[in-house]
Amino acid sequence: MQKYRYVREALQRELPSTLATFYESPLVSEKDLTLVHCEGYVSRFLGGQLTRDELRRIGFPWSPQHVNRALSSTGGTVAAAHAVCRADATAIFAGHIAGGTHHAFADRGEGYCVFNDIAVAAAVALRDHAARVQRVLVVDCDVHQGNGTASIFAGDERVFTASFHCEANLFSAREVSDLDVDLPPGVGDEAYLEALQAHLPGLFERVRPQLCFFQAGVDVHESDRIGKLKLSSAGIKKRNALVYAAAARHGARLVVTMGGGYPKDLDESSVHFHRVVQSHMDCYRQCASAHARLSREAPEA
Ligand SMILES: [Zn+2]
Repeated sequence: MQKYRYVREALQRELPSTLATFYESPLVSEKDLTLVHCEGYVSRFLGGQLTRDELRRIGFPWSPQHVNRALSSTGGTVAAAHAVCRADATAIFAGHIAGGTHHAFADRGEGYCVFNDIAVAAAVALRDHAARVQRVLVVDCDVHQGNGTASIFAGDERVFTASFHCEANLFSAREVSDLDVDLPPGVGDEAYLEALQAHLPGLFERVRPQLCFFQAGVDVHESDRIGKLKLSSAGIKKRNALVYAAAARHGARLVVTMGGGYPKDLDESSVHFHRVVQSHMDCYRQCASAHARLSREAPEA
């Protein structure tokens, strides 16, 4: 958990105000949450009434602090979506230094995910910015399948879910995304990037999204304790670059979220911790510089 603060503080020290502006994540409203989550589940979580079994599946005990964390983890992604979708938006890309909680379903959570931030933010954007956003693409590159997001938007024509994940890294249940790309354990940079490159341009051409969410989990890293894909830091940077370039080429607004990343060693001075945290930071560094490039090309943006 300490990685969240570490990544934010390091990015705030590093990124000049010409490249990025930082805002505190607001808490999501119940009205927004229930666009995709069942009212009963939301109110039972907020009131501390989930069963022991439901909490065991989520992976942490209930406390008022956890309620705030779940609400801000979703609220930040909603705020980032507003920032790029408002009629007077000055940003095309935005990032949330948390979120990517893609294992949350409409009526339950699992794998450290209580609410599905990307699903809520997509539904809010479609409701509040209907004039500018009619089609949403979710590019989920976490090592785990985006099962909650796939389930929430199954049969919803407005949101296309694409998940690039390791076939051996599944949470409890696999769902059917609009596109599932199963990658074998130990795939490495070259074959991974080939697979991404084979699908990404066609995806953007087919969906023609006005808004794209990038779940930029770095549990694909070779220094990750859980993920089995064994990508290098350089490979993950190439992955990010492909996603940002595709969104830019197709004129899609983009929101990047953090997703998984579990260093083999939690000691902040260890090389594994350093590599995983730096990979999380790369996702935001690259988002900021891709945005700066876009802004130069289209000065009104
Ligand atoms: Zn993951």
